Amino acid sequence: MASRALVIGVGTYDDDSGIHGYPTIEASARAYGSALARDPRWGATAGSSVLEPHRTRTADGVMRALHEASAAGEGPQDALLVVYVGHGAYWQDVPGGQVHFAVGSSRINEPWTWLSAWYVYRAIRKSKAGLKVLIADCCYSNMLPHLGPESALPGALGTRYQGTCVLTAVGGNVHNAWADACANLPDPLDTCTPFSGHLLNVLGEGMPDHPDDLTLGALRAGIDEGMQECGVHHAPRMLLNDASEAAMLFTNHAKGRRSRARMPDSVDQWVRELHLNGDRILPDLMSYPDLAGRVVVQLKKGDEQSRALARRVDRKAGGLLTNPADFVAYWGEIERAMLGGG
Ligand SMILES: [Zn+2]
Repeated sequence: MASRALVIGVGTYDDDSGIHGYPTIEASARAYGSALARDPRWGATAGSSVLEPHRTRTADGVMRALHEASAAGEGPQDALLVVYVGHGAYWQDVPGGQVHFAVGSSRINEPWTWLSAWYVYRAIRKSKAGLKVLIADCCYSNMLPHLGPESALPGALGTRYQGTCVLTAVGGNVHNAWADACANLPDPLDTCTPFSGHLLNVLGEGMPDHPDDLTLGALRAGIDEGMQECGVHHAPRMLLNDASEAAMLFTNHAKGRRSRARMPDSVDQWVRELHLNGDRILPDLMSYPDLAGRVVVQLKKGDEQSRALARRVDRKAGGLLTNPADFVAYWGEIERAMLGGG
């Protein structure tokens, strides 16, 4: 295994930089380091996963560490996890418009002192690891694009490797990620930023209804549920690109886990199941073509990730519903909703 995790937390800036530091940022980075160290999936490499302050001070320090981590991935069995906690900014008047990540020497309103997400993406994409995940806990993380192969500039990127995912603290039109700690979280996560604190709480407590490993889908559902319970947070966002909801990222620490043997039996349960496990359960769903149609209708009404799921289910439906009568039953539900609901 040549999996690598790199945690970049930048919470301290020069006094005259114009950028506010937050102790929650460095607390979050340390907490990611502890969570990775106690996770058998990551333990072997986690010792050095949190980048030291002298390396987070410059874009050069961060990028050298990122290229080292990225180069470690050798094949499908490996994972590359990059976590950024700090300040994000977005400049439209640079080529293509880019999110920029603050480093320790960044100065407000001076984009050249920040690290463009473009370089970070470029380094991550070059990794041959089978799963590449970027977790971004910063303002403007809602503007981060897909990390996968749809992006422009193919020639510059060389060979593409699939399996990428971006998980961000904010989504939709919400630009500002909160940096003040969430008091509802247990110690020491009540000293972290709310998004990272809630994410790390899912890792710490695990999810009792899930199997031994936490998938991307389960992680996102766990964060969503925890943050919704608090009632004061913005919803995070997950862009899957070409990674699967079923891709495994962390060990599930929940005690008394039970595997769900029962098949979902309502539209809402299937929607949840798809969010957790993605396409893997499609053949089961397609044995109920009209129900599958209603599930797609429900997904189309949801958020960005739900709508992307609806498109994926729809693309695969034709291949899975080989009996024309089944396809008519499936499509009939979708057509009725389109005619009725507009
Ligand atoms: Zn909270």
